[in-house]
Amino acid sequence: MKVLVVEDNAVNMKLLKLVLKRYGHEALEALTGGEAVAKAESEKPDLILMDIQLPDMDGLEATRRIRKLPSMKTVPIIAITSYAMAGDREKIIEAGCNGYFEKPINPLTIMGEIDKIIKGSVKNESSGSGR
Ligand code: MN
Repeated sequence: MKVLVVEDNAVNMKLLKLVLKRYGHEALEALTGGEAVAKAESEKPDLILMDIQLPDMDGLEATRRIRKLPSMKTVPIIAITSYAMAGDREKIIEAGCNGYFEKPINPLTIMGEIDKIIKGSVKNESSGSGR
C-alpha cells in the first residue's frame, strides 16, 4: 500500500515510516495539513494516517478538505490522537476519518490496529451504515 503519513513530530514520523516499511508499505510524508491535502491529491495514497495537532490547520480540517477531493472520497483515513482527544470520537468520525488510535504509538501493535480499522470501515460501507 501507498501510505501518506501526516505528522509534524519528527520522532513519530520516523517511527511510523519505519513500521510501514517493515511491513512492505510505501510511506510518503506530509508535515502540515496543507501539504497533506496537496499530496493526497497528487499521490492518491491507499491509506492516510492523520495527526490531529498540526502547525497550520488541525487534522480534522485537513481530513474534511481531503474528503472533498473526488479521488479521496473512500480512502481510509485514520486519525492519530493525543490522550486528550480520544473522547472526541464523534468529532473525528464526523470530519471523515474511519477511526483513530491514541498516542503514544506502539510499533508492535500499530499495524494490527490499522488493519482492524480498515476492515471495520469496509464492512460499514457495504452494509450502508457508518455507525
Ligand atoms: Mn502533531
